[in-house]
Amino acid sequence: MAMFTKILIANRGEIACRVAATAKRLGIQTVAVYADADADAMHVKACDEAVHIGGSAPAQSYLQWQRILDAARATGAQAVHPGYGFLSENDAFATACAEAGLVFIGPKPASIRAMGLKAESKRLMANAGVPLVPGYHGENQDSAFLQEQADVIGYPVLIKASAGGGGKGMRVVSQAGDFAAALSSCQREAINSFANDAVLIEKYVQRPRHIEIQIFGDNHGNCVSLFERDCSVQRRHQKVLEEAPAPGMTAAMRLAMGEAAVAAAKAVQYVGAGTVEFIVEQADDGAMSFYFMEMNTRLQVEHPVTEAVTGLDLVAWQLRVAAGEPLPKSQDQLQLNGHAIEARICAENPNQDFLPATGPLWHFSGPEASHFCFTAGGVRLDTGVTQGDVVSPFYDSMLAKLIVWGADRDEALAKLDKALSEMQVVGVANNVAFLRDVVQSASFSQGDLDTDLIARERDNLFKTQTLSEDLAVAGVMGMVLRQEVDAMGSNPWQAVDGWQVVGAPPRPFQLQGAWGDEVRALDVVLYSAPQRLRIADTDHAFEWRAHPRGVSVCLNGVWTDLSVVASAGQYHVFSRAGHAVLQRVDPLAGSAQAADALGGLNTPMPGKLIRMDVAVGDTVAKGQVLAVMEAMKMEHSIASPRDGVVSEVFYAVGDQVAEGQALLTLQDVT
Ligand code: ADP
Ligand code: ADP
Ligand code: MG
Repeated sequence: MAMFTKILIANRGEIACRVAATAKRLGIQTVAVYADADADAMHVKACDEAVHIGGSAPAQSYLQWQRILDAARATGAQAVHPGYGFLSENDAFATACAEAGLVFIGPKPASIRAMGLKAESKRLMANAGVPLVPGYHGENQDSAFLQEQADVIGYPVLIKASAGGGGKGMRVVSQAGDFAAALSSCQREAINSFANDAVLIEKYVQRPRHIEIQIFGDNHGNCVSLFERDCSVQRRHQKVLEEAPAPGMTAAMRLAMGEAAVAAAKAVQYVGAGTVEFIVEQADDGAMSFYFMEMNTRLQVEHPVTEAVTGLDLVAWQLRVAAGEPLPKSQDQLQLNGHAIEARICAENPNQDFLPATGPLWHFSGPEASHFCFTAGGVRLDTGVTQGDVVSPFYDSMLAKLIVWGADRDEALAKLDKALSEMQVVGVANNVAFLRDVVQSASFSQGDLDTDLIARERDNLFKTQTLSEDLAVAGVMGMVLRQEVDAMGSNPWQAVDGWQVVGAPPRPFQLQGAWGDEVRALDVVLYSAPQRLRIADTDHAFEWRAHPRGVSVCLNGVWTDLSVVASAGQYHVFSRAGHAVLQRVDPLAGSAQAADALGGLNTPMPGKLIRMDVAVGDTVAKGQVLAVMEAMKMEHSIASPRDGVVSEVFYAVGDQVAEGQALLTLQDVT
């Protein structure tokens, strides 16, 4: 079979973009499918053609196989890449592809089916001689019988939904008395999420590490191991950071795990990319034993880590194998080189038990990086979103994957810390600061990994602001001054670098931010000639200069580059040293002007003015709609924060207005 000339990508987000990037590089045309919510999504633009397949909820679109098959037929695609999630591990879909004359880029339906249920796959693995966690994975689902099994295994035990996935359908039981309640709750979740309430019981491994092996098989009987990834850093049984090689891995153990993984794959005649997940037990003397946990019969989210240390393009391998070619390399041609770590950047709230978050991405920018492949810089950012997109509640909360490569683990850690410090997300709650705290924690930096790492390091994580008050304040003041200079128009930068007004009176400001649980109000006074800043009664020498991404400030003789993003009345200050969010309350202007800015006279996001309901001289009431903006395909009304008379109007209908700009000014009613 010749290589495909056109493929359909039955997925969305970063993985659809990732697959499209390799296809493009190989000269293969791509077809995207998209739901209503994704009409403007990056994956649609990344492909040559796109077919609308239905409503925003996955059940109405990305899981609608018939429409996907119709789209493939209509566009002349020869193969379907399922990505991960959605239909990727659905053997019925793989079968339907084959029946429609399309190549499913993945394993054979029978292999997916064999590995689809955790209990059945464990029985199969036992026969293939792959080590298993001690436990019961038989067919008897009688509760009294299962309780007996748990008693024999010894507590703590883990109850797992056989059909489970994505960290769902698992219960840890620490004593016999809790077993019955945990079992019924696990069965309830399993029936709701997976329409199958079968469970298995296994020993809950202590100080466990999650180490998985990337394998690859072809249609010619070859199967290789592309070494391990350590995915022990998890929250809610879901991966947060992934790395290769696994810290402390010996050559002997790597070989043994690789052989076990290949044996597991061969037991189901595996073709394509797959991952065999093992749970690793660490004894007090450091000895490690590994047990088969499950096999994921697809490309994994964290595959870039393996690409970084092997120098391979796994999607290119998938396409070649699916087109019938043998694996490009044999086991002895494969080598590990350096160290790679991936951080999953998610729209979620770490301080609220990682609750997923939604909303508009007002600002989204990252470090200098390559996308969907590695280049010499060793920093890769794979994302399916751009600034201005809205994170909807319909899909996964992952916004991006930041992957770094270093010659060794220390270099990779340093690069990751720097790259995370340059990751700026404003508008949606996210885990960037949390990831940085984890990366900097003693356990992670020393490679002391297990799945309890986040719980163990709790006191050192979950900080709200990581930038010092003084630097955060200096950043905001520098930005306020920069905005004033910007507002003067022309191109003032060359002329008035370090601009200051000579002889101007001291200007007081009030800023507010939360450090830990404490909200602090900071009184700040800006003095000119010489310029200095008084922050909470302490004077600091202060200078500032424009900087491409914000301002550089000099506090007491030390210059620091800061990125400052003004959004919805808040200043987000980003720097290598950390991140802080401050709100400006202007005491001089009385509460009115501050309330105007916070209450919405300033544009909350960049957008187009589509209606201006008032003119100079109009009297308006609090809450009255003054104007309507359109941003991100949604209309946003700008309501009056108070009663007043319109004294100035700065924009007209049709104008594109930047974020944080005053649309008009109000005077008090006299
Ligand atoms: P990885 O590829 O690293 O194992 P996850 O385990 O988080 O990543 O799963 C990959 C994707 O598949 C995620 O988007 C997750 O939400 C989704 N997913 C995994 N298993 C299931 C499942 N059984 N049902 C629904 N979605 C799933
Ligand atoms: P999923 O299909 O949801 O990915 P897995 O079986 O892969 O389910 O387990 C997910 C995570 O749960 C593992 O990465 C590990 O952190 C934890 N886990 C699974 N089995 C055990 C066990 N026997 N003992 C301790 N932790 C476990
Ligand atoms: Mg798993």
